[in-house]
Amino acid sequence: MYVSTHFAAGAAIGKMVGNSWQAFLLGLLSHIILDIIPHHDYRGRRGIFLDTMVTAAMVLWLYPSPAYIFWGALGGTIPDIEVIISHIFFKKKGPRFFPTHSGKLPHLAWKWPAGFVIQVGIMLGAVFFLLATVPRFVG
Ligand SMILES: [Zn+2]
Repeated sequence: MYVSTHFAAGAAIGKMVGNSWQAFLLGLLSHIILDIIPHHDYRGRRGIFLDTMVTAAMVLWLYPSPAYIFWGALGGTIPDIEVIISHIFFKKKGPRFFPTHSGKLPHLAWKWPAGFVIQVGIMLGAVFFLLATVPRFVG
């Protein structure tokens, strides 16, 4: 899935559990679950750029927030570091260890636009949850 989707879901999980270690570990677990849900993945530089901008906007939007929100987001996004390294340094053929990246668990694809809609739906669900529960957004 998009890094921004993993980030939003991880942040929402962090808010749900309210503990940094649990947030990080459940964020990692959420990465597996989200990669298994059929979804669209971009291929080109424009997708990478937009995904990076949306993720950066969410970092700025959530700052400052309790640390567990960022630990959840970090756990949710950190597995994709190996994908980025593989793309940049190994022409997409670098070693991958995370189960949904290495092929040990399925990483399911769904064509545009349905695979995009599911990503945006998950992202917006997480964002609305944060809007409804993070104190400085609530009142
Ligand atoms: Zn992934």
